[in-house]
Amino acid sequence: MNVILLGPPGAGKGTQAKILEDKLGYKQLSTGDMLRSAIVAGSDIGVKAKAIMDRGDLVSDDVIIGIVSERLDKPDVIKGVVFDGFPRTPAQADALDKMLASKGQKLNAVIEMKVDDEALVSRIVGRYSCATCGQGYHDELAKPKVAGVCDVCSGTVFNRRPDDNEKTVRDRLGVYNRQTAPLVAYYHRKGNLHVIDGMAEIAKVTSAMTSILNQVKG
Ligand code: AMP
Repeated sequence: MNVILLGPPGAGKGTQAKILEDKLGYKQLSTGDMLRSAIVAGSDIGVKAKAIMDRGDLVSDDVIIGIVSERLDKPDVIKGVVFDGFPRTPAQADALDKMLASKGQKLNAVIEMKVDDEALVSRIVGRYSCATCGQGYHDELAKPKVAGVCDVCSGTVFNRRPDDNEKTVRDRLGVYNRQTAPLVAYYHRKGNLHVIDGMAEIAKVTSAMTSILNQVKG
């Protein structure tokens, strides 16, 4: 089962991809997470990507297609992949079709998460995560039960992404609307687009997604 979660930054793609991975065993493939790991590791890709990411632009198609292709060669993706933040351009979408075809696989579904741009800005600007286990939190919407202590692992160090400030978020939304939103029409023409309400509660979004996945599994 290969599924793309399509939606602007802050739509909840990462949250849902993680839940689907835990529930169904499909691997979350987040190109943003892969780039952030490359930055931490200090690799060539990370060094080049950092400035681009900090200003909210897209990293080049060649680099992104290269890291996704390498990732899809790993044995742990055999059951399927939830693509989170990829593809983001028509060239990436084409490349994904070719990569999957070369492995005898196909794309089973594209789920567009419909959200409201203004709500996204406050969702993103308030978000942070546990530095130890990655559990996500929000200043207003999802505080830890005990202030300053992670509910999952009791960690006390938290991170905010450098690109989660209001100016960069608005730039990232502009980039999404110009460069990534055209993929909605692309997948609609291919016949595998499903649209859900991304503003609903997390559990409701997950259940809308699982029913789509059950439906396409047949
Ligand atoms: P994300 O974690 O998906 O919000 O991505 C964070 C940043 O990483 C984006 O603003 C881009 O700079 C970069 N990035 C992530 N995925 C891609 C992609 N598929 N194509 C180009 N740039 C990407």
